[in-house]
Amino acid sequence: MAARLVSRCGAVRAAPHSGPLVSWRRWSGASTDTVYDVVVSGGGLVGAAMACALGYDIHFHDKKILLLEAGPKKVLEKLSETYSNRVSSISPGSATLLSSFGAWDHICNMRYRAFRRMQVWDACSEALIMFDKDNLDDMGYIVENDVIMHALTKQLEAVSDRVTVLYRSKAIRYTWPCPFPMADSSPWVHITLGDGSTFQTKLLIGADGHNSGVRQAVGIQNVSWNYDQSAVVATLHLSEATENNVAWQRFLPSGPIALLPWSDADHTDFIDTAGAMLQYAVSLLKPTKVSARQLPPSVARVDAKSRVLFPLGLGHAAEYVRPRVALIGDAAHRVHPLAGQGVNMGFGDISSLAHHLSTAAFNGKDLGSVSHLTGYETERQRHNTALLAATDLLKRLYSTSASPLVLLRTWGLQATNAVSPLKEQIMAFASK
Ligand SMILES: Cc1cc2nc3c(=O)[nH]c(=O)nc-3n(C[C@H](O)[C@H](O)[C@H](O)COP(=O)(O)OP(=O)(O)OC[C@H]3O[C@@H](n4cnc5c(N)ncnc54)[C@H](O)[C@@H]3O)c2cc1C
Repeated sequence: MAARLVSRCGAVRAAPHSGPLVSWRRWSGASTDTVYDVVVSGGGLVGAAMACALGYDIHFHDKKILLLEAGPKKVLEKLSETYSNRVSSISPGSATLLSSFGAWDHICNMRYRAFRRMQVWDACSEALIMFDKDNLDDMGYIVENDVIMHALTKQLEAVSDRVTVLYRSKAIRYTWPCPFPMADSSPWVHITLGDGSTFQTKLLIGADGHNSGVRQAVGIQNVSWNYDQSAVVATLHLSEATENNVAWQRFLPSGPIALLPWSDADHTDFIDTAGAMLQYAVSLLKPTKVSARQLPPSVARVDAKSRVLFPLGLGHAAEYVRPRVALIGDAAHRVHPLAGQGVNMGFGDISSLAHHLSTAAFNGKDLGSVSHLTGYETERQRHNTALLAATDLLKRLYSTSASPLVLLRTWGLQATNAVSPLKEQIMAFASK
């Protein structure tokens, strides 16, 4: 353990100047800074949800939490009629987390779309896999990121006595006493904001995205590479009525293309609707579990103003925790969106970390102690590395049109489609 920490100290010196800096200073003991039990740096979807999870935890009723967000407060006074182009596929597990502190109710009262079926197929062959829920359970939900953020903001406002949120507040420096924290008994982390104000905390949670300043400041190694690919997102208008509860994804050699269910189709008329209903009734009457190929709905037009480009990459932090520090969300892992799992992995981190911290608080333990933080790290690295590896493999396997690999993936996709228990396992893993 000691050797590991020594090398960490060396890495701290190398913190790049672009991100927040870490420095060592002699511990004076006396300070007038406000001390928070937990500071969450970064108020994106994951950081804001983390602050909510702790703010609503019964064992945190006497704790003080601070959420720092570099950007402005995002309020959605009224839902716009045009849909935002930033949507996320939310797993049932993530919906359960959001329900646990009341945010899911807001989402349900605003706008979301459940999906019950997913068809994935290969552009180079006829291979296809269809995931569906026979029991009419939802497989997931498509929700606008703005709607999720609005729900989280509302819930944070309701616990403002426990959770302080500072918007337009960028952390520019994280300071540990000298030498770098070697033991649980070490003093608190100091945080300096751009306006010069300072705070201390027993536990700093880095939720500051894939270029995490917390991760860099603490010297945690990050394995990362950029994909030679960007994601283009846009809102499409369909030309026909559909059941609109199917998520479609087709793997082209240039990259996957996905069509996610959303609002009702623009042009619905009785014949189309009746046709879709008849098709649906027939599918319900099918005698076996065999999933028939469906054709995706045709697209009438693209909402031109909705098109946006996102460069894609993979990243994974070698460690998620250090004494008094934990990383969550994209600060710990960045994944290709082909599996729609990025924010779901972040919400999974929150469930695990909040559980460990709640137990520590109940037992009166030091929240920044590695003894329970490593429990979080072990749990989440096991899950996240498997997902990252699988997603990266899929991305690479489907980026080629070389015949042996096309044959291999065709066989793999068809075999997986034929083996129901395997498909159920995949669905169970992705729905966490
Ligand atoms: C095209 C696309 C589609 C996607 N689709 C899906 C999907 O369907 N399902 C899914 O699960 N995931 C999806 N994802 C992934 C998902 O969007 C991300 O995983 C998720 O948004 C990461 O959230 P985060 O809060 O960890 O990080 P971020 O969203 O990067 O938030 C970090 C926050 O920290 C703040 N910050 C940074 N530095 C500081 C600082 N020094 N001080 C204070 N604040 C700071 C930033 O202002 C920001 O608000 C998709 C991603 C892309 C690009």
